[in-house]
Amino acid sequence: MMNIKLKGINNYIYTFYYVLWYTLFGGIMRLKNVKGANDIIIKGTYYVSNPNEYKGNWNKLFKNNNPIHIEIGMGKGDFIIESAKRYHNINFIGIEKYDSVIVRAIQKSNELELNNLKIVRMDAHNLLDIFDKEIDTIYLNFSDPWPKDRHAKRRLTSPVFLSIYDQIFKNTKNIIMKTDNINLFNYSLETLKEANYEIIYQTNNLDCLSDDNIMTEYETRFHEKGIKINKLIAKK
Ligand code: SAM
Repeated sequence: MMNIKLKGINNYIYTFYYVLWYTLFGGIMRLKNVKGANDIIIKGTYYVSNPNEYKGNWNKLFKNNNPIHIEIGMGKGDFIIESAKRYHNINFIGIEKYDSVIVRAIQKSNELELNNLKIVRMDAHNLLDIFDKEIDTIYLNFSDPWPKDRHAKRRLTSPVFLSIYDQIFKNTKNIIMKTDNINLFNYSLETLKEANYEIIYQTNNLDCLSDDNIMTEYETRFHEKGIKINKLIAKK
């Protein structure tokens, strides 16, 4: 694979900016202890406590054969919950590893009446424990950029993750990504192409307010600050 290095003065500016930004928003958001979070999570209406048992059988849990879309790193769940509200013929699974944010998604969704939403607490490294070839689309929204080269494997579009995703897609593989981070965006374009994905859509200036765009929590914050959003759709 092409050795993609994020170098130059821009990288230092971005690194500084992201350390600051993710410390202020991501860091605090994740590290803040939410009292009783675990109890709230396990009682959540849409929470699946035993996802391993549904490997290969998620359609049975949803009681239909509709396509399954997952968001990896859903944070507080704005995007996946709104997606489930809008698109009743698609099954949505939100995946998140941190209690302090997943608990907010649970609280927001508890009172809704949806039969096409599930929430799973796990690290995406373990996706193969819970999914067989049954996923239609993966959303990666504002994934952590991991700007340092030595952390590149942790990026959700690294070859490590792309090879995991390859094993859970049903037919056509669809990855839809949004990020404010141009370095992560360019890195992802390269890794996706290296993995034989075709980039069927890309923009460096997404119209966040268009009717068909569902804004995520981070997207809302970036948009309010006038920061441009990048989006790509990749298929293979
Ligand atoms: N997607 C949300 C949004 O756009 O508002 C949250 C973005 S936040 C920057 C990234 C989220 O991805 C965090 O909540 C983090 O815990 C989650 N995350 C990062 N790596 C993950 C992994 N390997 N497995 C599951 N969640 C992960």
